[in-house]
Amino acid sequence: MSKINNSADFRSDTFTLPDQGMREAIFKAEVGNAGYGEDPSVNKLEEKLAGFFGCDEAIFLPSATMAGQIAISAWARPGDMVLIEEFGHSYYFETGAMSAIAGAQAHLLTGKKGILAAEDIAVRIKHPENHYARTGLIILENSSNFGGGTIYPEQTLNDIFTLANQHSVPVHIDGARIWNVLAARDYKASSLMPASGSMSICFSKGLGAPMGAALLGNKEFIHEARKIQLMLGGVMRQIGFMAAAADYAFENKRERLTEDHENALYLAKGLADSVALDIDIESVQTNMVYARVLAGSDQAARFVRLLDERGVHCLNVGALIRFVTSTLVDHNDCTKAIEVFHELLSRD
Ligand SMILES: *Cc1c(COP(=O)(O)O)cnc(C)c1O
Repeated sequence: MSKINNSADFRSDTFTLPDQGMREAIFKAEVGNAGYGEDPSVNKLEEKLAGFFGCDEAIFLPSATMAGQIAISAWARPGDMVLIEEFGHSYYFETGAMSAIAGAQAHLLTGKKGILAAEDIAVRIKHPENHYARTGLIILENSSNFGGGTIYPEQTLNDIFTLANQHSVPVHIDGARIWNVLAARDYKASSLMPASGSMSICFSKGLGAPMGAALLGNKEFIHEARKIQLMLGGVMRQIGFMAAAADYAFENKRERLTEDHENALYLAKGLADSVALDIDIESVQTNMVYARVLAGSDQAARFVRLLDERGVHCLNVGALIRFVTSTLVDHNDCTKAIEVFHELLSRD
């Protein structure tokens, strides 16, 4: 992967670039009008994904944001409550789309490192008797982005699926980084998919495709989802070029994620002994490291600026500094980040 000025980009795995093989796959892709179901590359990808996750069907979409919002619109009616962790992407990072598009409202739950427990959810499920809005959907983010790239334990996931079934509430998995979950744990892909619900996945994070996401579910759900896709202008034409990139990513880029995870853990451990930072090593389960700067947000912003000047790029969120590992950084870049950070601290 080519590097600009020998700098290390830890800002996000969305900066990853297509490699030579992916570019060739894009170049050679067979395409057709996907809006008429006639793009062979799209059809092949959708079938492959449905098989892999053990569900009826999949739709290839431009973004995981659209995939998630389509799912919310398909499941929830206007006025419904959508149970979601307070920093859940579909609520917190998507400009209020669930209320603007689906007309649903978020009912926010506090998770532990972004992970909800069945007990947290059980007391919040409401049926429309009395004053309550109906609980239309439960959203779980796996892995949890703002939780630090944390993974739902299999038991927790099963408990929530069982609870949701008992109450006939569907579950949507925001699996933008489900590939990281699968790389980090020995879970079967189909076990991560709710029996009654849906999942959105993304190809443009750590897998390095230029764009693309998919929404997975049963036949009836996908039928409804395709209508909403049309409504939002999400139907594309000769998009097999990008489906071929996603297919290439699926086949060739998943393995590399374990290296990203090793790099994240190495980085986290290297920074954790600093007295200026609070890093929860236990939450470093995939490709993210969140370091809390104890001196607060002004200092965090200053650190990020100084790191930037020294060729280590990361993101500042309040008092947090976020590092994401991807193909853009290797073990040496992590060493550099650790050294630069310690050097900055020793000067303070
Ligand atoms: C990035 C992300 C999304 C949105 O993905 P896009 O393809 O960029 O729209 C959704 N959910 C989570 C958890 C994400 O990290």
